[in-house]
Amino acid sequence: MQDIYGLIGYPVGHSLSPAMMNAAFDATGLDARYAAFAVAKEDIDAALLGMRVLGIRGANVTIPHKEAVFRRLTSLSQEAQIAKAVNTLVPGADALWTGYNTDVEGWWHSFEATMRPKGSSQVAILGAGGAARAVLTGLSIHATGANVVVLARRHTQAQQLLDEFSSHLNVIGGSWDERHEYVNDADFIIQTTPIGMWPNSHESCLADDRCLHKGQVVQDLVYRPLSTKLLVQAESRGAAVVDGARMLVGQGARAFELWTGKPAPVDLMRQVVLEQLQ
Ligand code: NAP
Repeated sequence: MQDIYGLIGYPVGHSLSPAMMNAAFDATGLDARYAAFAVAKEDIDAALLGMRVLGIRGANVTIPHKEAVFRRLTSLSQEAQIAKAVNTLVPGADALWTGYNTDVEGWWHSFEATMRPKGSSQVAILGAGGAARAVLTGLSIHATGANVVVLARRHTQAQQLLDEFSSHLNVIGGSWDERHEYVNDADFIIQTTPIGMWPNSHESCLADDRCLHKGQVVQDLVYRPLSTKLLVQAESRGAAVVDGARMLVGQGARAFELWTGKPAPVDLMRQVVLEQLQ
């Protein structure tokens, strides 16, 4: 019988995951399908139970349900516990589902091994929402001790992250108005706001690109367009760039491996995502 996997979120119509995951199943010879389900906030409990009862073999969770699903599960991976968010569900032995957060490892593996942040790195994170939380979790696990500044337009939102992550990282908050100064001093700049996302592709979070320079690594988690205005600015200033599709593929690959126990066909998954983005 064919194995069914799913994605729950709201909305989910524009998701690239079905094409990416179905291509991965086909390439590895698995008789499985992946479908996206739009689930309203008030239906999360019914969806979690319903998917389990129907024998769904695994699922992803996307915006806006990652935190709500985290709060409902008792069996959680280390990254999900630190991030306080779940994006992948694996059937649990004696639990409803075990919750994982593959955004964290997906983010970490979006960098080439030689290009990753270290405990001594200066990291500037633009934005303080869910994606910033995944980045801070990845740094907490893999680059403990890194010096991080969270640049947010709302101080209270950044403060929440500082309170949660200050035991793992040297993390401070910076105001949005000061972002150019902090970016200038950073080795890694991780852009986690939706600024520059299609149809606002002409926008960048940096009004003046002179704070970008050679020796920096600039990552934009926005992947629509793949080459955002920020990444164009960074490249023209000599910085190395990492596009947001790398994290998207990375989180999908890790979920695939958790569900199937097989290595994910990462190159094919990226190719499918790039085709979809065109
Ligand atoms: P989120 O939880 O809503 O957080 C967005 C953050 O950006 C918030 O701190 C928000 O501040 C800030 N922000 C939004 N507009 C801003 C503006 N004009 N100026 C300054 N700050 C602004 O969203 P998220 O889940 O973190 O996702 C953020 C982006 O990352 C989205 O574009 C999403 O597609 C992308 N993402 C990509 C991946 C990937 O795999 N590549 C994974 C996750 C997310 P306020 O709360 O004040 O609005």
